[in-house]
Amino acid sequence: MDIFQNEMVKGLTQMAHYFAEFEIRPVAPIHDREETVPWELMAKAQFQGISQTRMLDEVVARRGKEVRESDSSKPKIAAQLQVAAAEELAWGCAGCSLALVGSSLAASPVASLGSVEQQDLFLKLMDGLDANGRVKTAAMALSEPGTGSDISGLSTTARKEGDTWVINGSKQWITNGQTATVYVVWAQTDAALGRSGVRGFLVERGTPGLIPGKKEHKIGIRASETAAVHFEECRVHNDMLLGAARPSTGGLGDTKKMLDSTRPAVGAGAVGIARAAYEYTLDFAQREMLRGRKLVDHQHIAFALAEMAMEIEASRLLIHKAAWLSDNKIENVLNASIGKAHAANSATSVTRRCLEILGDAATEPGNLVEKCYRDAKIYDIFEGTGQIQRRIIAKHLFGVNAV
Ligand SMILES: Cc1cc2nc3c(=O)[nH]c(=O)nc-3n(C[C@H](O)[C@H](O)[C@H](O)COP(=O)(O)OP(=O)(O)OC[C@H]3O[C@@H](n4cnc5c(N)ncnc54)[C@H](O)[C@@H]3O)c2cc1C
Repeated sequence: MDIFQNEMVKGLTQMAHYFAEFEIRPVAPIHDREETVPWELMAKAQFQGISQTRMLDEVVARRGKEVRESDSSKPKIAAQLQVAAAEELAWGCAGCSLALVGSSLAASPVASLGSVEQQDLFLKLMDGLDANGRVKTAAMALSEPGTGSDISGLSTTARKEGDTWVINGSKQWITNGQTATVYVVWAQTDAALGRSGVRGFLVERGTPGLIPGKKEHKIGIRASETAAVHFEECRVHNDMLLGAARPSTGGLGDTKKMLDSTRPAVGAGAVGIARAAYEYTLDFAQREMLRGRKLVDHQHIAFALAEMAMEIEASRLLIHKAAWLSDNKIENVLNASIGKAHAANSATSVTRRCLEILGDAATEPGNLVEKCYRDAKIYDIFEGTGQIQRRIIAKHLFGVNAV
């Protein structure tokens, strides 16, 4: 694919890899062990131009230039750049990587649904440091204690009162949920409308009734904060309703659109995890001896490593195809799901096989592959579980709404 020869993609990949190797890797085991957010690393990343809100930055930068750009022969590569960087950062550490770019989950619906004023407000709120001198973050609050995969069953409500909306409900498993400066929260505005009544709202930290909740302890990606968020009679102005100026939008379609745009980057993260574990294990197999031969010279080990390389390469190509479709404004729902599901599947199976090859070595505290194994499982859960991706794929390929 030409994209891998593109100078911008190559340059960004190198830059992200350098940051992953020399900034992320040295601190990752500490944040994993202590389950702490890497605030210093986030400040360094921001300083070096690794934006938490790249998609939104680009939408804002493009304003007014659409006509000129449509004539341009330059390749459109924003999503492809994003997946290239996401793979490298997750290669460094998936938890730290999510801490660095998790705000993009909230920036994405603001980029696609927000008005000019909402986009500017979001970026203004994200500018500078918070009251504790830390990089500001954003959170996207969709999942609830009783509703993860089935987002049509949201129980968080938004009630219209004059020119305000009053939000009530609880969200769970929200990235940056405890410390975010700004939230995009999804709520049911009219139960009678069912799925199409679900709308997104911008809510600023400090708004009365927005109550950040308990932080979760997780199997993996521990450097990324995941927490509950509660809304109790939380009142926001009508101007904070996303997509209000576009009556054709709204409903579950908005949330699906958001997930289709973020899934390729999440899948790319899974590729980065698998690659990190594979490279570590290959190096190990080239050094360690078994019955007088290097491990890698044994056929069962060499074949296992070859299969891992095949899985990783295939996942990367699927992810880049989904990103290419997105860049070229071609619907990518099917390909985003295929890429994400394949990459998550590969990451869990590659890391498991790496553990098997390493044996005892992988049980040492702080072993990279043991951490990759724990991190990989999360990629099969968030942004739509493996089962949900298969449902989407079946629906698109042969119209079956599998029960
Ligand atoms: C680290 C982390 C970060 C997260 N960050 C965010 C965030 O920032 N914002 C946010 O809104 N959410 C976030 N989530 C939540 C995540 O999106 C949900 O966990 C995910 O959608 C799965 O939902 P659930 O956990 O409720 O599982 P459930 O939906 O309860 O599913 C349980 C099991 O049933 C299966 N299943 C469910 N429905 C079907 C079906 N129709 N057919 C077949 N199988 C089915 C699932 O695949 C799964 O195996 C995060 C989760 C994690 C772990």
